Amino acid sequence: MKVVALAGGVGGARFLRGLQAAAPDAELTVVVNTGDDITLYGLRICPDLDTVMYTLGGGIDEERGWGRQDETFHAREELQAYDVPTAWFGLGDRDLATHLVRRQMLDAGFPLSQVTQALCARWQPGATLLPMSDERVETHVRVTLDGGERVIHFQEWWIKHRAALPAKAIVSVGAEQATPAPGVLEAIAAADVVVLPPSNPVVSIGSVLQVPGIAEALRSKTVVGLSPIVGGAPVRGMADACLTAIGVETSAEAVGRHYGARSEGGLLDGWLVDTADAGVTVPGVQVRAVPLLMTDLDATAAMARDALDLAGA
Ligand code: GDP
Ligand code: CA
Repeated sequence: MKVVALAGGVGGARFLRGLQAAAPDAELTVVVNTGDDITLYGLRICPDLDTVMYTLGGGIDEERGWGRQDETFHAREELQAYDVPTAWFGLGDRDLATHLVRRQMLDAGFPLSQVTQALCARWQPGATLLPMSDERVETHVRVTLDGGERVIHFQEWWIKHRAALPAKAIVSVGAEQATPAPGVLEAIAAADVVVLPPSNPVVSIGSVLQVPGIAEALRSKTVVGLSPIVGGAPVRGMADACLTAIGVETSAEAVGRHYGARSEGGLLDGWLVDTADAGVTVPGVQVRAVPLLMTDLDATAAMARDALDLAGA
């Protein structure tokens, strides 16, 4: 069985680990959001690609959910001592090595997709990880700051301001001109099923779908999604701030309706919501309520099995 998943960082990566446990023989390709990517200190930082790579490759810090296990932050402390204005971004010492390799390969002319492949040669994630695009696409957020309208990078909004500044708009800068990375459309075309993990619907899945050609490629596929919203709130993080910015209510039903039925020009054939949200309906979509909390690998694998069952139904 060939499975394609679109994914963001922590929520996506955890789910994918369950998917691999539930379907160990499946050939998995993950199209990863790169809208969160940012250049700091000359380094190209790709938080979602690295989170998925470290999680599936056994190098993740389980508690934080991002970055390397056994990590230290000496370089960051030194940056703070220099009063570097971007020291709010946590780049660990071990993690720095990944970024140095990426910088060196990008400078040598390799596209991000090939850099990712090279990094994965070490981590062996058991899946093909593809950036959504090799071109630069960056999510920016329009906010009121220091008395004026400003557009800031998603990471500045999310990490520095903890998404507490109301977002007036969320824009994918560069998306219109971008093309899917090599292998993305091919993997979707060959897929038996496409899964949307419980990743952020706006700045993770939504940003992948902004790359021209990807949403269109999904139209001829069986697509099943899992809700990141349980009982009217994100399980983790601040996805509610992103949903509010695009005028979508923070509920499993509203996110399902936002994705929409494939039969009606939307995305979904099936939508899994948590048992707390039983009774949710999305016109044209088969909705099932199952436990959706990734408390451990068994629970996560059960969610993945439910998703694959729903795809078969
Ligand atoms: P990010 O890039 O690190 O923000 O990660 P993703 O976009 O892949 O995932 C973030 C989303 O995962 C958040 O909106 C959370 O609500 C969701 N999430 C995290 N843990 C769980 C869980 O156990 N169950 C469900 N259903 N969603 C979860
Ligand atoms: Ca992310």
